[in-house]
Amino acid sequence: MGVSKSDPIIIVGGGAFGLSTALHLSQKGYTDLSVFEKDDHIPPRYSAANDLNKIVRAEYEDPFYTDLTIKAMDAWKTPLFAPHFHQTGFLHCVSGQAPEQAAETLKRFRASAERNPAIKPHVVPLEGREDIRQACWQLDGSLSGWNGYLNRFDGYAHSANALVAVYRTAQVAGVRFFLGEQGAVDEVVYVSTATGKKTAGVRTKNGRFHPSALVIVAAGAGAGRLLPELGQQVVAKSWSVAHVHLSDEETSALRGIPIVYARDLGFYFEPDPKTNLLKLCPMGGGYINTDARTGVSHAPGSLADSSFMPEHDERKVRELLAQTLPALKDRPLVKKSLCWFADTKDSDFIVDYVPQTESSIVLLSGDSGHGFKMFPIVGSWVTNLLEGPGRQQSIARWRWKGPQKSEEKADWGGAVSWRLGESKELRDILPARASKL
Ligand SMILES: Cc1cc2nc3c(=O)[nH]c(=O)nc-3n(C[C@H](O)[C@H](O)[C@H](O)COP(=O)(O)OP(=O)(O)OC[C@H]3O[C@@H](n4cnc5c(N)ncnc54)[C@H](O)[C@@H]3O)c2cc1C
Repeated sequence: MGVSKSDPIIIVGGGAFGLSTALHLSQKGYTDLSVFEKDDHIPPRYSAANDLNKIVRAEYEDPFYTDLTIKAMDAWKTPLFAPHFHQTGFLHCVSGQAPEQAAETLKRFRASAERNPAIKPHVVPLEGREDIRQACWQLDGSLSGWNGYLNRFDGYAHSANALVAVYRTAQVAGVRFFLGEQGAVDEVVYVSTATGKKTAGVRTKNGRFHPSALVIVAAGAGAGRLLPELGQQVVAKSWSVAHVHLSDEETSALRGIPIVYARDLGFYFEPDPKTNLLKLCPMGGGYINTDARTGVSHAPGSLADSSFMPEHDERKVRELLAQTLPALKDRPLVKKSLCWFADTKDSDFIVDYVPQTESSIVLLSGDSGHGFKMFPIVGSWVTNLLEGPGRQQSIARWRWKGPQKSEEKADWGGAVSWRLGESKELRDILPARASKL
């Protein structure tokens, strides 16, 4: 027997996947929905989506995700999401010094864009500085050896604002929110059954028990702490971000620029007109925080441990600016942080029941650093799972992945073609002032 529409359902996590799930379940007529979020406000500071912007690009090496993104982009253009979606285009290049792997990955992305009839008409090839200046005249750096393409089909979403919009809509629809101390889930509580065990609800850090028929764990990089049986199939990983604070005039001059993305250096977005912040992200294999005892990487508990940008990342984003917007290359970087997400070996999401829980717990995880573009439709994958036949995820690649073989190292940064470089341990890059765990 599946969950009924009036059964109490708990969603753990008020980030991108949890809020989208609350929205879709409420729209499907589920009436007893509660979201538990450990931060005391939404957007939560712990959410990977608590950010000015995230790329919404449709071309993937894998057409499965291209098709999904096209669906998501249709939803981004509906009234709830449209104010937060900006179809500025995606200027996707490699610099003159890019390693072969970056250039090869770029070629595959471009081929994917040109294969898809909906995307192809929006793709403009770029060979060298003049082409790039035609596409974006503001880029007045040397752009030495740069080539790639501009895809006007793509854009970005203001992710923090989109989270707030869905939070408010879900509240109006009757979803209850437990935030801060009341919303920090300490454990999933189980009861024994004739055939094993199932969940009875959750216990929050303040000691309160909240009963439910179904628990949906959408805790991003925090999933492994709630479901230890996940083991190494999900790795808490982070990338760094930083910002340049521009003047009103500088922000205005850069209005409407596409996302400027060099696969070997990093990328930035149109500056945010409210805060005048230009967000920068370096490319790289990211950072993990492995517990030596278990071999599992968890996000650090304190935000303070993530409030910096590693030096080599800073060098990369400054080089990106030097080659594209040289006037900004020596500006102070502000609002630096490591942003934690839930990585899987193959970059596939996990949307499935947790085994041996009698279908009483759903795991929604493994965003692998590319999940925000799907925000408007993620929740529909959960309703499909709950209402589909057979109490099983019909999309094989989104199933619970089973235990990782112990001899495999749970650092698969370089194994995925669209990422460049291996992951480093947080303890090896922490600045001297921060504590280790
Ligand atoms: C630097 C960076 C850049 C990215 N860029 C892009 C991009 O350009 N395009 C794109 O599509 N995607 C991008 N992503 C990925 C995107 O941000 C994620 O896919 C998305 O946020 C995943 O949503 P989530 O709900 O699984 O996790 P999150 O959004 O991280 O939310 C998880 C929530 O669970 C809460 N939580 C955790 N544990 C508990 C607990 N025990 N009790 C209560 N609450 C708990 C957390 O506080 C958090 O709010 C990027 C990610 C990073 C880190």
